[in-house]
Amino acid sequence: MITTVTLNPAIDTRYFIEDFKEGRLFRAEKTIKSPGGKGLNVTKVLRQMGADVVATGIIGGKNGEWIQENLKKMDIKEEFYVSSAETRVCIAVLAKHSETEILESGEELTDSDLRAFEKKLMELVEKSDVITMSGSLPKGMDAGYYQKLVELVNRKGKKVILDTSGKSLLEGVKGKPYLIKPNFDELEYVLGESIDGRDKIKKAVEKLKNLGAQNVLVSLGGEGAIYFGEEILKITIPKIKIHNTVGSGDSSVAGFAKGLDDGLELNEILKLSMACGMSNAQSMETGRVIPEDVKEFMGNITVEVLKI
Ligand code: ATP
Repeated sequence: MITTVTLNPAIDTRYFIEDFKEGRLFRAEKTIKSPGGKGLNVTKVLRQMGADVVATGIIGGKNGEWIQENLKKMDIKEEFYVSSAETRVCIAVLAKHSETEILESGEELTDSDLRAFEKKLMELVEKSDVITMSGSLPKGMDAGYYQKLVELVNRKGKKVILDTSGKSLLEGVKGKPYLIKPNFDELEYVLGESIDGRDKIKKAVEKLKNLGAQNVLVSLGGEGAIYFGEEILKITIPKIKIHNTVGSGDSSVAGFAKGLDDGLELNEILKLSMACGMSNAQSMETGRVIPEDVKEFMGNITVEVLKI
């Protein structure tokens, strides 16, 4: 089984307003609401790929209830800890030529919320082989919280995939996750300088490995990825027509988790990871893959040893 952790979920609300400009009154032409947060995107993709997955994290209030109801409609199993802090709403206004986002910070959680969530997580960890942890931390939470969670899971001998950014990544890797999946921007933050070639990528990865990351999958959008494990592997993907790449990183985390849980060989895990990212990029919806397309893409992805 795979457990996905979403500590900072949200109701993603997308308003479609063709001529949107600031400072005026508009009525939305169409509104789409969906359970959001990077961990829930990972969960959706795992479910579509037929994995045995349970979503956990912390939710609360009416918004939390709404998320639970909608996960149920999607036939997704969830074991969220329910706190008294209302879950946030994140808004995107989609106009003809622009996208404006407003992200609520969410309410602060108490120490007793965290202890109760950890207890719930550890019960799920007993039944899981792979645990994914994705996204930002809720407001006011210590940047080292992922480190603590990763250490708790490692003690049970289970594998953690950690996909976060900024300070929570730099602190989280100290817990020694099995895999992290930074993209280019995240590596630039880690290095504190711009990355203009493979040497710089390697330098940033070495920093993350020295801090504790066991393996690092650097995703490079349409250019595929580079995997830094015992060897360095270059994963090359074919060129495809894309629609919306948001959530492709989450989809590639889902593919990796599924491959790991199924006991596939590393090369196949990497191909599955990339193919899920590609399939998501072909959909208009975030966190949407088509298993038949994933299978087809896998046949056209190559993995080769890279010397850098
Ligand atoms: P996000 O934050 O939007 O979820 P990310 O920046 O973490 O994404 P990316 O590196 O953009 O992750 O994408 C992850 C994977 O998805 C890539 O390694 C690739 O397999 C696939 N992918 C992303 N963009 C494209 C693209 N333009 N064409 C083909 N495949 C893509």
